[in-house]
Amino acid sequence: MAPFPVLIVGSMAFDDLELPTGAFRDVVGGSATYGALAASTFAPVRVVAVVGQEDFPEAEIERMRARGVDTQGIERREGKTFRWAGRYSANLSSRETLDTQLNVFSSFEPKLPPAYVDSSLVLLGNIHPALQLSVLEQVRQPRLVAADTMNFWIEGEPKLLGGVLQKIDTLVINEEEVRQLTGEHNVARAARAARKLGPRRVLVKRGEYGALLFDEQGAFFAPAYPLEEVIDPTGAGDSFAGGLLGYLATQPELTPLSLRRAIVVASACASYGVEAVGTQRLATLTRQDVSRRLDAFRALIHFGNEMFF
Ligand code: AMP
Repeated sequence: MAPFPVLIVGSMAFDDLELPTGAFRDVVGGSATYGALAASTFAPVRVVAVVGQEDFPEAEIERMRARGVDTQGIERREGKTFRWAGRYSANLSSRETLDTQLNVFSSFEPKLPPAYVDSSLVLLGNIHPALQLSVLEQVRQPRLVAADTMNFWIEGEPKLLGGVLQKIDTLVINEEEVRQLTGEHNVARAARAARKLGPRRVLVKRGEYGALLFDEQGAFFAPAYPLEEVIDPTGAGDSFAGGLLGYLATQPELTPLSLRRAIVVASACASYGVEAVGTQRLATLTRQDVSRRLDAFRALIHFGNEMFF
């Protein structure tokens, strides 16, 4: 079966990163970039995003195209590309946003190319919820709609974000953000409360502690791979979400099991992404790489099926 096409809307960005290993400026990032590179390991991807007319390198877009990403939905607009700056703590377990400059995003009105309208899986990457909603209004009957968001929009646009939540089936969100969204500290309770806001499944990303899915079947856990060296966690959430939808696009049916398999694949994609600064590692990710990490995951959690006592 040919994989279904995956539509990804999100940011394309220049990131300034302060990492324990050094400061890196003008690193190409953004939720759509990370998401599309990960998803393209498995399926044809279509991207809707905006970049600055003059400052965004064409070679970066070409790099996506080389992986089979359809980039006709990337608009070049007069002005500067979106910019984000962040500083990570010494152990990389937390980060602080130093600056967000929406630039070309402030006047962006996403317009789906006609060829994108029939996309069967849709990933609404982290961007203004009004833009997420506008994309949803333009797609025809997708099989699955997943969305990500972040503190910036939970604080700044709670009403519009509420509208997005009512229209999606899968929320992919990190642990602090689901707490902030729902006011519940306990993750399981927070996920339950988030499901009441609309999505039938909530996937909570917990950084080095893996990811938890909450759906009508109960809870499911996928570990994060215990890497000895993590270089740059930026975009881990987006490569997780991209890998998730990319893998699901290869499945004839969306079942509880295919979803669980996709979550482990998503975790494998994220584990590669953090091995290098920006998108460097993700840009060359192959199915063989992912497959190797799946073997490592099997070894990580296998302790036999026989009775213990
Ligand atoms: P993650 O580490 O998965 O949360 O994603 C990091 C990426 O999100 C970076 O490459 C940023 O460019 C992008 N980003 C940060 N803040 C925003 C925002 N407010 N809107 C859209 N994208 C953002």
